[in-house]
Amino acid sequence: MLVMIAGLMALLTVGSAAMAETGGTPQWSLALHGGAGTLDRKDMTAERDAAYRAALQAALDAGSAVLAKGGSALDAVTAVVVRLEEDEKFNAGKGAVFTWERGHELDAAIMDGKNRAAGSVAGVTTVRNPVLLARRVMEASPHVMLAGRGAEQFAKEQGLELVDPAWFDTAPRREALERMTRDKLSALDVDIKFGTVGAVARDAAGNLAAATSTGGMTGKRWSRIGDAPVIGAGTYAENGACAVSATGWGEYFIRVGVARTICARMSMLGESAQAAADAVIGEVAALGGDGGVIVADAKGETAFSMNATGMYRARATSAGLREVAIYADEK
Ligand code: ASP
Repeated sequence: MLVMIAGLMALLTVGSAAMAETGGTPQWSLALHGGAGTLDRKDMTAERDAAYRAALQAALDAGSAVLAKGGSALDAVTAVVVRLEEDEKFNAGKGAVFTWERGHELDAAIMDGKNRAAGSVAGVTTVRNPVLLARRVMEASPHVMLAGRGAEQFAKEQGLELVDPAWFDTAPRREALERMTRDKLSALDVDIKFGTVGAVARDAAGNLAAATSTGGMTGKRWSRIGDAPVIGAGTYAENGACAVSATGWGEYFIRVGVARTICARMSMLGESAQAAADAVIGEVAALGGDGGVIVADAKGETAFSMNATGMYRARATSAGLREVAIYADEK
């Protein structure tokens, strides 16, 4: 009898531990995006679809591995974004869109929710992984934002890997610029998606972090800078509130202050990540902009919101959730 009771109790203990993990706060959670925009099934071949899903899965695995080992949210979002910067399918690092002058100007940001430390870079042309430079700005400089030549100089002093600007070139991005200039189109006509990458995470210690990296918009000129490196617009993290990374038409995201507004709604109005994200993406839409966000909250809930036909995205938790999706109508 005693043995039976002990056995039953052991079973109950296992059961409730499993329930705590699936039903309550997960120890860690992670969400990422690879850009939002016009993503129609009819423009996508089965191979392309599979290649994007595999790339999103690989990035998700890279970040999950960090968090599963007890690593920080900051290290997890860094690992995800580096991985996506290295993948030429995405508009960040290799595979970045071309500027009007046929170069690449890369923007990136990272923020640590623990102390609201932040670093960002804008308009860099030779830094292989701009998110690593943003992290150095946060950790090794007294500043938050560096741009252009000065940012390159800082990268050199920090010993970061520099590449020839042509290293970022890819044929599909060149073709998009050629089509844009030839047919007098806008960036929105030639980019089947925006392609920026980003990640948000909550680690087992409860810390939140966010990172974003982008080549910006095809054919950008006059040293145009988008929302990604603007803290509070494309990127934001604050423990106890939320972590956000955005993608979309940057000018609108800057004007709405998207990431910070989502966090403020959550902490001041008590809104859920989903409700706050939907409300703020609604503001972007009302002004005529489009794009999407990924959000993580203090409890490790994650949310996606977009006013676009698709957003490359994925998420995972310690409780076993694993999702990779592309189209808006996918779960
Ligand atoms: N938000 C980026 C920008 O405006 C573009 C993107 O999301 O792809 O620079």
